[in-house]
Amino acid sequence: MTKQEAAAALRHYAVLLELLGEDPFRARAFENAARMLEMQPESLDVLIAENRLSAIRGIGKGVAAAICDLNSRGTFAELEEARQGVPSGVIELLRVEGLGPKKARALWKDAKVTSLAALENAIEAGLIERLSGFGAKTAQKFRTGLAFLKSTSGRHWRHHAARAAEALQESLKDMAGIREVFFGGSLRRGNETVGDLHVLIVADTGQTDTVRAGILALSCVSWSETGSGLRGESASAFPIELSVVTLDEAGARKILATGSEEHVRALKEVAASKGFSLDPQESGNVLRTESEEQVYAALGLAYVPPPLREGNNSVFAVGSRAFPDAVRLEQIRGILHCHTTASDGHHALRELAAAMIERGYEYLGVADHSQSAAYAHGLTPERVRAQWCEIDELNKELAPFRILKGTEVDILPDGRLDFDDELLAGFDFVAASIHSGFNMSEEDATARLCRALENPQVDILGHPTGRLLLERNGYPVNHRRLIDCAARHGKAIEMNCSPHRLDLDWHFLASAESRHVPVPLCPDAHHIEGLWDIRWGVEVAAKGPLTAANCPSTWSADEFLEWCASHA
Ligand SMILES: [Zn+2]
Ligand SMILES: [Zn+2]
Repeated sequence: MTKQEAAAALRHYAVLLELLGEDPFRARAFENAARMLEMQPESLDVLIAENRLSAIRGIGKGVAAAICDLNSRGTFAELEEARQGVPSGVIELLRVEGLGPKKARALWKDAKVTSLAALENAIEAGLIERLSGFGAKTAQKFRTGLAFLKSTSGRHWRHHAARAAEALQESLKDMAGIREVFFGGSLRRGNETVGDLHVLIVADTGQTDTVRAGILALSCVSWSETGSGLRGESASAFPIELSVVTLDEAGARKILATGSEEHVRALKEVAASKGFSLDPQESGNVLRTESEEQVYAALGLAYVPPPLREGNNSVFAVGSRAFPDAVRLEQIRGILHCHTTASDGHHALRELAAAMIERGYEYLGVADHSQSAAYAHGLTPERVRAQWCEIDELNKELAPFRILKGTEVDILPDGRLDFDDELLAGFDFVAASIHSGFNMSEEDATARLCRALENPQVDILGHPTGRLLLERNGYPVNHRRLIDCAARHGKAIEMNCSPHRLDLDWHFLASAESRHVPVPLCPDAHHIEGLWDIRWGVEVAAKGPLTAANCPSTWSADEFLEWCASHA
């Protein structure tokens, strides 16, 4: 078991204790222990083998024994006991944004609500607002939260989809008779979340049946046969739709498997108007081509890159539209916005820099949290200055690689910043983000963000909505006004590349591009592996598309710093 998995189990136990209404101090102790455990540099195996768990501050003998049990058998006695005491539907309630353990307990004990469906019924029946400690506002919040949950059901984070795709690809790599393994759907279109994996296996001529039999025999996926294809679930429980196709139908089938629904519908209309059918499974004058490009050409249409195949207005007569090139991963020269052990990161500056040098990057912009972010061990001005000294030393040693002195300074509730201007002026770059006080109207949130952007010291706005994909919407923001404000003051808005955020939302990239608001792709890394999250940003940014020229991550360190100086 990893430290993170053990910490998650401890946190889960703490939640169960709260749901059971047990001693809050005991719950708090397990939460603290989880945090302390995650902060240890060594692996769980090492900590246990060297008998060092109970030497960690905040981890007593009892918790240490629980962690050992977790490591050896995946659970511990008190956790199992607590699980018995809480209906699983009550734990489900916690998925509703704004519904914590205390409210869930009250719903369970006072209103006999033990499932999401029961919660919905109780809201509609007006029961929630009459419960003591709840009110009409709370009921409305739960209603919104439930609607959000429904809208995200069946969706998965992009990195999980990619992982499932890579595993499937690997299991097929030695199978005879396969010409190509093709992944369509939202994964190919670069969407932030993915429903099913839409897979086409293009078989060599005469090999369709053999390939299909081979795939059915794979042990890593459990399949059921549907009408024309296969439906399966990967070992990681990812849903897969798969078809084995012949080369002469590959062009059209790839288009159909890629979507979006609206794009395909629009294409089918054009095809029908010209007497063609797009679907090889339909009768009629079917377009039989090997490539997608040939299908678009046969219909007199411009080839549309997969990330741009969204919406009804996504087909264009040939020659009527040019698609700018989207930024590519190999064009990224530096990474801005990452956290070190000085705040809530898991690796030291030197380790992050070494990892980046090894991959050929030119610079790293550190951006630890500021003082008011106590939960994240935010830096005081004194600790900032100490970090600057450390960076100066490292830069001498690591040249020509460069570490840029940055901060992710908190935007306070009134839009002021968490450091004074004098300190801010000492950084190479300043990113400003909201991390608390999410309960705002669109008007207030937009004004708060704009006020931060108006500060001459600020260069980049971090994760503009604070959304967590599939978890919470974040605060409401008027993106048009925000982009206007950034344009007026010559500021950038990041696309946070954490696969849980991908915020700035890609729908606003085109508007940022046209207003010349630069959009750096920022991984917001908290550990070395997190640095490579920039990949998700590149894939989603292709939907704008975000061009290399408008993406500071493709600029040299000097170009970036010159741009920062231009509005200070
Ligand atoms: Zn942040
Ligand atoms: Zn951050």
